[in-house]
Amino acid sequence: MTRYGSMYGPNITFLGVDECDIEIPESFADADVVIVGAPFDGGTSYRSGARFGPKAMREVCNEEHNGSRESMALRVNGLKDLRVYDMGDVEMYSGDAVKSCENLEKVIEKITASGAIPLVLGGDHTVTWPNVTGVARGADMWGRVGVIHFDAHADTGDIAFGSLVGHGQPMRLLIDSGAVRGDRFIQVGLRGYWPPPDILDWMAAQGMRSYEMTEIVHRGLKECIDEAIELALQECDAIYLSVDIDVVDPGSAPGTGTPEPGGLTSRELLDTVRRMAYQLPIVGVDVVEVSPPYDHADITALLGNRVVLEVLSGMARRSKDARDGTTWNPGQPILDGR
Ligand code: MN
Ligand code: MN
Repeated sequence: MTRYGSMYGPNITFLGVDECDIEIPESFADADVVIVGAPFDGGTSYRSGARFGPKAMREVCNEEHNGSRESMALRVNGLKDLRVYDMGDVEMYSGDAVKSCENLEKVIEKITASGAIPLVLGGDHTVTWPNVTGVARGADMWGRVGVIHFDAHADTGDIAFGSLVGHGQPMRLLIDSGAVRGDRFIQVGLRGYWPPPDILDWMAAQGMRSYEMTEIVHRGLKECIDEAIELALQECDAIYLSVDIDVVDPGSAPGTGTPEPGGLTSRELLDTVRRMAYQLPIVGVDVVEVSPPYDHADITALLGNRVVLEVLSGMARRSKDARDGTTWNPGQPILDGR
């Protein structure tokens, strides 16, 4: 079988990084990170369109698609200092959620077992269920992967529209299966009017830790994230980072299926994911719910693209510092001595 490429539109890779073929293990044998498109929106409860997220996040940047991006903040090149490949999309038919999730889980397990970190471009949030399941299996870390989940919504819902497979339920499925411990499941950015009290009770019974926006604003984002980082790693070997783009205020991320006013700024999200990728042993990442049909001027697609770059740059700086015995100083001026 040849490389599948993009499910929609031309066969391009994320900002021009090298391609690989999931059927040919040698093509990604030296990978640190393998980017995977998950063009699925069959799990949306309201507005669909996230199936076009991978395509939009791969292509949105105006700079040359040369597989190279120097981070001014971190003084590393996340696409070059790490060995990053793009395997294209997993075949996901939005009319068959179970089959699509099976296809994705197999791919994620394979990438993780090879020693690489999967970075998934969604798709709606349903895909986090197969993503984390595949990582926990492939890395042999069942029940020992901490999850940090950015979202306006808890995604811990019970049966909806007759199914448990949808973008409102992946976190419940992951805790129910034992892939992730409920008390190592951390959520950041919840707000609004969902979920109802009975689901909050279920979350509390699992030992989940959810930071609602009011707490974040009252205590300060930094203090909450310090606490989240410490908790996520207790008795866990690595961290899975799941970013639902609707954690950001719809004013800065309008292109998404279920917007909720009052979220983080894009600046806060970028700084936080960068910091997490720098400080934590990351074993898998997804950026989900970018829905281009509802976007304006590519604002949301570009934010998703930058979340990916900040994660990769943070991981690159983490390995550079481990190698060179250096430490990143965020207060250092960009121009030495000026
Ligand atoms: Mn979500
Ligand atoms: Mn959401």
